[in-house]
Amino acid sequence: METFTLKAYAKVNLGLDVVKRLPNGYHQVKMIMQTVGIYDELVFTKKEQGITVTVEGEGLPEGCVPADENNLIYKAARQMMEHYGVAEGIHIHLRKKIPVAAGMAGGSTDAAATYKGVNRMFRLGVTEEEICQMAVQVGADVPYCVKGGTALSEGIGEILTMLPDAPACHVLVAKPDIAVSTKFVYENLHADKLQYHPDIDGMVEAIGAGSLDGVTERMANVLETVTIKAYPVIAQIKELMEAHGAKRALMSGSGPTVFGIYDQEEQAREGYQAMCRSGLARQVFLTGFVNPAKEDGNAG
Ligand code: ATP
Repeated sequence: METFTLKAYAKVNLGLDVVKRLPNGYHQVKMIMQTVGIYDELVFTKKEQGITVTVEGEGLPEGCVPADENNLIYKAARQMMEHYGVAEGIHIHLRKKIPVAAGMAGGSTDAAATYKGVNRMFRLGVTEEEICQMAVQVGADVPYCVKGGTALSEGIGEILTMLPDAPACHVLVAKPDIAVSTKFVYENLHADKLQYHPDIDGMVEAIGAGSLDGVTERMANVLETVTIKAYPVIAQIKELMEAHGAKRALMSGSGPTVFGIYDQEEQAREGYQAMCRSGLARQVFLTGFVNPAKEDGNAG
């Protein structure tokens, strides 16, 4: 029985700006995307026919990640297998570790890993560029998740400029026990009334120069204006991280996950312990930036 496992990494946004609301209701964004070392595992097994998905995850509430055709894994597998006329079937088992509805692109990264897994299982020989073209139909962030690493993302998220790896650091990630709907956040954002726009171009330069200070001093996310108003615990988590040595703490995506950047490992560990003790967040991780293309055993 042919079977193998792929990692699907989560992302954070080092910077997130919304340029404007488009007439079709989407938002034009300008974001710095960064892969972090928190990942789901997808186990691919060939079978005679059909597509099935199973989901496993510690403390995952029943039905919170669907194990049917609503799972982005199922959607990506079906799209690719139909497109390339694959007659055989596949079973995909998801070990969920990335916080759900958290602003960490959990579903998008699972979809991205699915394209790679199906490509490998059925020896389709599809290029990364072709995968990205298919992926955008499943979600605007999926093409970025196919590539991973550090990137500038524009348009509705699908226009990517790959950047040099962001400077290495320690990253404390904390997700409070609330689920935030991305739709709710964008619907309540008044893109034309924003008081402040993050300096995304300056951050691109700082990344090019390898300056961690240049990155952290520009970290900002305009979606905080909506999500923090609805869930003040996010502000408390940010304050706790910064009080425990983080150079800067920021909400990722539409939230509620917060991440803090540390240059000293000792301080990051202290921050981790303080966060666990505080009870503000149920899921807490200590990790770092990752470039999946350079990780062993994760080639598509
Ligand atoms: P983003 O950062 O892209 O906004 P997110 O972290 O806000 O993503 P996800 O974790 O991707 O949100 O999940 C949002 C919803 O999508 C979940 O509540 C779930 O119902 C559905 N979903 C479908 N497939 C998946 C999947 N493979 N993993 C997680 N959620 C999935």
